[in-house]
Amino acid sequence: MSTKEEKPANIIVPRNWWESLPRKIYSKLERVETSQSWFEVYKLNANTYAIYEPYQFEETLSYLVEGDKRAVLIDTGDGIADIKRCVDELTRLPYNVVNTHTHVDHVAQNYMFKEVWCYDGPMAHEVEKAGYPNSKTAPMVGPGMTWKPLPRGFDVKKWVVPPYKVTKWLHDGDFIDLGGRKLEVIYTPGHSNDHVCLLDKKNRWLWTGDIFYTGGIYTYLPGGDLDQFIKSYEKMIKLFPEFDFLMPSHNEPLVEKEILATVLEKAKLIRAGKEKKYTEGTDGGEKIRRHQYERFAIITFEKQIRG
Ligand SMILES: [Zn+2]
Repeated sequence: MSTKEEKPANIIVPRNWWESLPRKIYSKLERVETSQSWFEVYKLNANTYAIYEPYQFEETLSYLVEGDKRAVLIDTGDGIADIKRCVDELTRLPYNVVNTHTHVDHVAQNYMFKEVWCYDGPMAHEVEKAGYPNSKTAPMVGPGMTWKPLPRGFDVKKWVVPPYKVTKWLHDGDFIDLGGRKLEVIYTPGHSNDHVCLLDKKNRWLWTGDIFYTGGIYTYLPGGDLDQFIKSYEKMIKLFPEFDFLMPSHNEPLVEKEILATVLEKAKLIRAGKEKKYTEGTDGGEKIRRHQYERFAIITFEKQIRG
């Protein structure tokens, strides 16, 4: 009797990726109950919440960040459940959305919000006008991508990211004043050309969007660039005196900043063609390489490598 042929290994999505969940950090955090089981909400301090989507492969994290007078929602997630309802249950402050960048898993529910702030980059203007079609959203819940039932009423066939209106375009060095708490906009291209980090000097946290998280970090997605990625890491590392912990947009919050120096070191070796161990795949007919390290991987186009 032959065993059933398994789906070939994919260099982006490991088979049965959910078997390694839950991640350790979550048992140390305070869980907050909300009305939708799709989201797990964690209170990181008196006025900061992580809104986590653990049942989909990307394990997207959005954040609600409150000051004394107002708040921001950092990114609007995958669009599978209702993030606006979730945030409205958590805060009474007026708030707006701030996007770390405009890939689909960060802007999916921007259209629900009146105030959306975003970095003034080329891709951000395109996505604002066009949103994303069903061909870009549907694969996010394709075979092997989720491990719990999708929320009742969710219809994958109708799932798109509608266009939305950006009400304020952000620039490098801008401050977002929440009252007694400020977030500084740090332009950090490399993963996408409209990507920002947000620096909270008061709490010594840096929101890193997708330029860093524990997991596979991509420079081959639309707007990605390995040279810019390296420059952005140098910029973040120069800011080490200002922060201690990272708040990434995927997988887990509160990561120690020192890991950024390791990513930079590896990225430089990869660019120079000196990292010979990798797995190979393709994306849109182009070769991509996955370099796996202990807590992260770097995934690049072969053509981004110099050596
Ligand atoms: Zn992302």
